[in-house]
Amino acid sequence: MYSANEFLTRINLMKAYQFPKYDEPMLDLHGKDVAVIGGDNTALDAIRSALRLGARKTYVVYRRSEAEMPARIEEVHHAQQEGIEFHMLTNPVEFLSDGKGWLRAARCVRMELGEPDASGRRRPVPIASSEFELPISVAVIALRTSANPIVQSTTPGLATDKRGYIQAHASSQRTSRRGVFASGDIVTGSATVILAMGARRRAAKSIHEYLTNGVREAPDNSQSMESDRSADRLRSFGRKKRGLRMTHAQFFATSFSL
Ligand SMILES: Cc1cc2nc3c(=O)[nH]c(=O)nc-3n(C[C@H](O)[C@H](O)[C@H](O)COP(=O)(O)OP(=O)(O)OC[C@H]3O[C@@H](n4cnc5c(N)ncnc54)[C@H](O)[C@@H]3O)c2cc1C
Repeated sequence: MYSANEFLTRINLMKAYQFPKYDEPMLDLHGKDVAVIGGDNTALDAIRSALRLGARKTYVVYRRSEAEMPARIEEVHHAQQEGIEFHMLTNPVEFLSDGKGWLRAARCVRMELGEPDASGRRRPVPIASSEFELPISVAVIALRTSANPIVQSTTPGLATDKRGYIQAHASSQRTSRRGVFASGDIVTGSATVILAMGARRRAAKSIHEYLTNGVREAPDNSQSMESDRSADRLRSFGRKKRGLRMTHAQFFATSFSL
């Protein structure tokens, strides 16, 4: 079993894709059945990589329906075209061993959608007596990432939100700590390269002004700190009903105006 980050790091940075030139950075996937648990772009990166490394069967196991999947719609289409099977409205409840320390199957339960939860998406609810076993020998867990808690515990005076992400002013990227600026995923939560780059340019401008002129506006609580603004847009991206979802290009086009 791998986390998606470890799995992708082993494939790309440790060059598992060049096995045997690079020695054994991960299990040989040839002929193996692989499932990724989760429904975002990282999940699809992982399962499509597994396919390229020779996996026999490849599954995406996601507890909500396709309409709620955070992954880009193009990624989902490409994965389907490549033969990856989607077990939507399905949640693993137990991973089963073959008795020799290796994975044999995931015990899964079918789900149905109930009332909306805090995220605005309909909450998945298990269906009674719907359990089944999905035979797999590799599982990749691609569930929510979070901020490193060291940031909050080691940096007094640096305001973070309830999820541990640094609060930064939306236009200057300044934080609650004098001379400290923040941008990218550590402010917005998991987002995109283009959002991180845009915020970094704003931060660079502010840092330049701070270093050359000592300009550092006092924190202005009347304007939103950025921790949630971009991320909220991103979270809503891809979760609308299928026909209303933006394409990747449309999303990036709108991102330029942030
Ligand atoms: C699997 C996966 C696929 C993705 N695919 C896409 C995609 O297709 N398109 C897209 O736009 N976005 C994609 N993203 C999101 C994108 O990678 C991030 O939004 C973006 O990299 C955020 O940039 P960042 O600079 O804020 O953070 P990062 O890119 O994470 O950079 C932070 C850097 O800080 C370093 N660091 C951390 N702690 C310390 C420390 N204490 N001291 C020194 N250095 C430190 C880290 O090593 C890292 O290099 C993907 C993300 C993942 C995980």
